[in-house]
Amino acid sequence: MIVVEQKPLEDILDMVKDSDRMLVLGCDGCSGIYQVGGEKQAEMLSSMLKIGKKTKGGKKEGDLKIEASTVLRQCDKEIVREALEGSIEGYDAVLSMACGAGVQTVAEVFPEKLVLPAVNTKFIGMQDREMGDLHERCSACGDCILDETGGICPITRCAKGLLNGPCGGQVEGKCEVGGYENDCAWILIYKKLKEFGKIDQFLKLRLVRDNRISQSPRDLKGGVKYSGGGE
Ligand code: SF4
Ligand code: SF4
Repeated sequence: MIVVEQKPLEDILDMVKDSDRMLVLGCDGCSGIYQVGGEKQAEMLSSMLKIGKKTKGGKKEGDLKIEASTVLRQCDKEIVREALEGSIEGYDAVLSMACGAGVQTVAEVFPEKLVLPAVNTKFIGMQDREMGDLHERCSACGDCILDETGGICPITRCAKGLLNGPCGGQVEGKCEVGGYENDCAWILIYKKLKEFGKIDQFLKLRLVRDNRISQSPRDLKGGVKYSGGGE
């Protein structure tokens, strides 16, 4: 899942200070599932923006057209086009509550519209439902090596992105970066590989990554088939 977090309301109000006719657009994908940018949050944000514009911007009810809507997935051009074509004309701007890919999808499908981000895109994460926490687990490096590392990603979970075992900074399995609060990824990897009887993978020398693989911007040509609802 892509993890997003709503920007502070003050920042959003400043961002939309020149737009009084605005569509607050949620996404029922990652943003909606985590209840940061779904239908309810879009409605809530649109109400708060109306109040903010009236109290701080001196606007009257009649000056404003701020409405909320959601789409199934904002990162899908066809879904966005089908959902908004014909209804987006009445707005000066779209305030998107999707990840950065969603914001840019709307901007590409409707290039004449100003599309603004209401959330910050944080990382690709794993949810811990019991604790209600989200943890970064993948950096979308483009060359997955989880098969060699016991299913634990050193690129993401090692603060230095090391590929060949721990640095000298780990103490009792804790990482020096961040004040010994996080587990050292490479100690976790070592333990997991030992458990699986695959310590040979730990000893394997991994060469410096070819960063051209993950050089932005990246495309996946014709390789994405959408299999969810909505089509
Ligand atoms: S190695 Fe890590 S960053 Fe790369 S794809 Fe696998 S989990 Fe993601
Ligand atoms: S202590 Fe472990 S997780 Fe932290 S930077 Fe060193 S190898 Fe990476």
